[in-house]
Amino acid sequence: MRLPVADSPFPTQLADRCVMCGLCIPHCPTYGLSQSENESPRGRISLMMGLARGQLEADSEFLQHLDHCLGCRACEGICPSDVPYGTLLNSQRQVLKQQGLSTLPWGTRLLMTLLASPPARLKHINNWLHRYQRWGAAKLVALLGYFGSAHLKRLHRYLPPVSKPNTLSLYPADTKVQVKGKVNLFRGCASRLFDQETSDAAIFLLRHLGYAVNIPDKQVCCGAMHRNEGDIEASQQLASANITAFGRSTDPIISTASGCTTHLKEYPQHNDALDAEPFSQQVVDISDFLSRVEWPKQYTFEAMDKKIAVHEPCLQRNVLKQGQSAYSMLSVIPNLNIQPLNGNQFCCGAAGTHMFSQPEQADALLNPKLEAIDKQDIDILVTTNIGCALHIQAGLKQRGRLIEVIHPATLLARQLRIKA
Ligand code: SF4
Ligand code: SF4
Repeated sequence: MRLPVADSPFPTQLADRCVMCGLCIPHCPTYGLSQSENESPRGRISLMMGLARGQLEADSEFLQHLDHCLGCRACEGICPSDVPYGTLLNSQRQVLKQQGLSTLPWGTRLLMTLLASPPARLKHINNWLHRYQRWGAAKLVALLGYFGSAHLKRLHRYLPPVSKPNTLSLYPADTKVQVKGKVNLFRGCASRLFDQETSDAAIFLLRHLGYAVNIPDKQVCCGAMHRNEGDIEASQQLASANITAFGRSTDPIISTASGCTTHLKEYPQHNDALDAEPFSQQVVDISDFLSRVEWPKQYTFEAMDKKIAVHEPCLQRNVLKQGQSAYSMLSVIPNLNIQPLNGNQFCCGAAGTHMFSQPEQADALLNPKLEAIDKQDIDILVTTNIGCALHIQAGLKQRGRLIEVIHPATLLARQLRIKA
């Protein structure tokens, strides 16, 4: 199982930037759980370098340390030597996948394949899930004890109420305001299936700001999960499909999930063969967009006497550097008691497919978040990433806690009023 150096596309010159200072270690959530050097960024870089130099074998222990990494990139954000840890991790996973050493469970692979479906199939999946819940099949499966499958039970816990798919592809700007132009909406895969509420809120807010909203039919999953799991071919195909789907439009491409936003913005880094730079420049996260707008004078926001905590998704904090955008966009709502969720510097454990492929670790990382929600005694939790929202909501459900977990755009849309 030894990998010869010459055959490895692992970028040793980038890993060489690591001076082994260890400053990243206390920021790593998996090190926090295990206190093991091999579960830290520095330890993982040493392991990857050892493999690339042919000094180590990709045995089960090696693979486990790599599998445990969340790709949260907290280490990258803190590194004084600019080690591009995310690139190292993805390159290593690519090597392992090419060598047939990927350990991703088949259920997670199936999920990734389904989420990467072409738009027409994704619409069928959406319809099917909607009927599955509406016609009582989901309840029946629960009554039958999920056929004894812990995996199926977990999937059900994560499944929110699924709405019927939205079919319009162009929404005109609201007629009560001056028209400002047009924007494109990127809906991704999980957002499209499980988070119609955020899409509706985004469309509503953008229209009331004076923008027509275009939703290209042929857009697909952003490919972040595939890239993170080393499936470069699938991730490049998805990137190419999205760049084609948004065509020659020079209007902003607004993404409603910060995990997707990060990956869409990083398309040029991963897709040499595509002209991805103009696309990437157009991409903007909805929370960033809404935190910088000026609301037309005819609107106001109704006051809200509630305690709101903000969960800051890792990639939005560590890579986009937009951890403050949810606070800024919600600052227009009077009386809102808004505070960060304690422990925002650590990943919640969702991490793309991690919540399914590494359930024990994902739950261990989620527990402090659930405890913080209890301790801070909040009414609503807001987060800008659908994966984190599903993971936290599933944890709350398990504890019997009825706290809403929504996108800040949803909250903003609920409070928007037209002045009398
Ligand atoms: S990755 Fe950066 S912060 Fe971590 S040990 Fe290496 S140089 Fe230091
Ligand atoms: S990406 Fe996150 S989990 Fe992985 S080594 Fe860096 S800080 Fe740790």
